[in-house]
Amino acid sequence: MFARSTFRAAQPLRMHARRFATETGPSAAQTAKPAAAAAPKTAATPPPPPPSPSGGGGNATTYVLGAAVLGGGAYYYSTLSGGAKGSAASKQPAQAAFTGGDQGFLSLKLAEVVDVNHNTKRFRFELPEKNQVPGLPIASAVLTKFKGEGDEKATLRPYTPINDENEPGYVELLVKQYPGGPMSTHIHNLQPGQTLDIKGPLPKYAWAENKHDHIGLIAGGTGITPMFQLARGIFQNANDKTKVTVVFGNVSKEDILLKKELEELENTYPQRFRAFYVLDKAPKDWQGNTGFITKDLLKTVLPEPKSENIKIFVCGPPGLMKAISGNKVSPKDQGELSGALQELGYSKDQVYKF
Ligand SMILES: Cc1cc2nc3c(=O)[nH]c(=O)nc-3n(C[C@H](O)[C@H](O)[C@H](O)COP(=O)(O)OP(=O)(O)OC[C@H]3O[C@@H](n4cnc5c(N)ncnc54)[C@H](O)[C@@H]3O)c2cc1C
Repeated sequence: MFARSTFRAAQPLRMHARRFATETGPSAAQTAKPAAAAAPKTAATPPPPPPSPSGGGGNATTYVLGAAVLGGGAYYYSTLSGGAKGSAASKQPAQAAFTGGDQGFLSLKLAEVVDVNHNTKRFRFELPEKNQVPGLPIASAVLTKFKGEGDEKATLRPYTPINDENEPGYVELLVKQYPGGPMSTHIHNLQPGQTLDIKGPLPKYAWAENKHDHIGLIAGGTGITPMFQLARGIFQNANDKTKVTVVFGNVSKEDILLKKELEELENTYPQRFRAFYVLDKAPKDWQGNTGFITKDLLKTVLPEPKSENIKIFVCGPPGLMKAISGNKVSPKDQGELSGALQELGYSKDQVYKF
């Protein structure tokens, strides 16, 4: 067990929530059975960290986009030959497509659209060159832009790609459509062959291997995408031993995005990765948590605030942010910590709001 040695609560969930596979006995909080046991993966070499060592956020429209380190000459190792990730034989240099600085927007062709649920789709865009990789540092997003007919100004929105930043050929976005939302509607209306303007990276929290011993990722809805990027980056790096606990809130079971990918992580790294799912409208047979993400649940499953080197990340709709950590003031200003995390004793420095 890597979290608290003493359980502080009495309910069955709480009795087991901090247990990982190194412990005996089932975990009531292990709510979803993985679809299939995934074979252990060989770690890939992660991309180099972004220029700033700090974990600060930034405004999508005012970011200086990672110019220096990710300049045109930046190279990443990828699995171009299809071999095991990270094995010396398979490593070939690949150029990053998103180099920031004065690169501007890339007009990327939509190659494929996959329906995920009633309001969410995956969009796979081709990078300019087949052997290029996205090359985004972890954690960072991309910025999309479009100007509709008659629009005075272009619409700009950030998204966190969900495919491997070291995988060649494409960048993939998972986009939920909001009624009346200009960008999500525009992207959902795109047909394969059409293009979208995308630039990056928009640096977020600069991750470096073993930066923290244990991190908690609290997400709601599409807020899971930056969390998944972070978790994937950690587990692709064999040298990174960080433990990861996810608390993921959604309205219904169908809304749980990236469930298969999260289950694969849980199956492959049971001693270091745990995910707890919370549904507002749970079906009768739901064995996970119901309602909203509560202080009690967080107290039970997250690493303790008094632990030495932990970080809690939060990303979700304004209501969730307000209840859990307080909203960001702006992309550059994390604002004060409030809500459940503050009440549980976490300090502002221990929390990062995406
Ligand atoms: C760093 C970062 C990464 C992001 N990554 C993703 C991603 O991977 N996938 C994705 O689908 N979105 C992501 N988003 C949200 C995305 O940038 C847009 O805000 C979203 O697609 C809505 O844009 P829109 O122009 O369609 O609607 P808007 O005009 O921006 O909003 C339309 C309506 O939807 C509401 N709304 C907007 N965003 C949210 C939200 N997140 N939760 C609940 N209600 C909301 C608004 O309050 C408004 O009522 C991310 C945001 C940030 C800051």
